[in-house]
Amino acid sequence: MHILLVEDDVGIAEPLVEGLQRQGYDVTWVRTGREAIAEDPRDLVLLDLGLPDLDGEMVASRIREHSQVPIIVVTARSDEIDRVTLLDLGADDYLVKPFGFRELSARIRALMRRVSDRSTVADQEIEVGRLVISHRTRTVFFDGEEVSLTPKEYDLLAFLAGDPGAVLSRDEILRSVWDEHWWGSTKTLDVHIASLRRKLGDPDLIVTVRGVGYRLTESPE
Ligand code: CA
Repeated sequence: MHILLVEDDVGIAEPLVEGLQRQGYDVTWVRTGREAIAEDPRDLVLLDLGLPDLDGEMVASRIREHSQVPIIVVTARSDEIDRVTLLDLGADDYLVKPFGFRELSARIRALMRRVSDRSTVADQEIEVGRLVISHRTRTVFFDGEEVSLTPKEYDLLAFLAGDPGAVLSRDEILRSVWDEHWWGSTKTLDVHIASLRRKLGDPDLIVTVRGVGYRLTESPE
């Protein structure tokens, strides 16, 4: 497995590279946002937010333009971190400095588990009304047009589409789409629902069930 480490602080990067390599990961280490964007990340990106040239947020969104690679954001800004923005940019998880190596490697394993769960769903395609979701390629089509979603938006939509018409509770959705390590603001879910509605262009597709959760309608053909 190959990890792209984006970290300008040598004192943090060197022991990280060493530790990750000891665990059997291949690591490419770059110190700037520009170098990170130029790389072709394969299995995972560990991204420091405080970089000398570009904002880490910008780097994450640039990577997301061409890659679905899992991203773990590393930040020293525990208080100011804008979690909703990070989510929207497609970060999958985050760590606040200083963190222990064991915590990092647990997060990496959890994230890789989630990713491989996604891919073992294999060649399945779900059709719900005008919506087609292909698990194998993680692509979504609405009325025949491909809709570009962030990884989390995709996971959320795929989860709702797994049981179309059923009311899924907020807890259920948060547990399945995010995991127990997630920072757990329930606003996160609403932000993603709003963004899905906007991107799909049909606000009635996902119905809010007050006090409970959400339901995907089987919209008429
Ligand atoms: Ca830094």
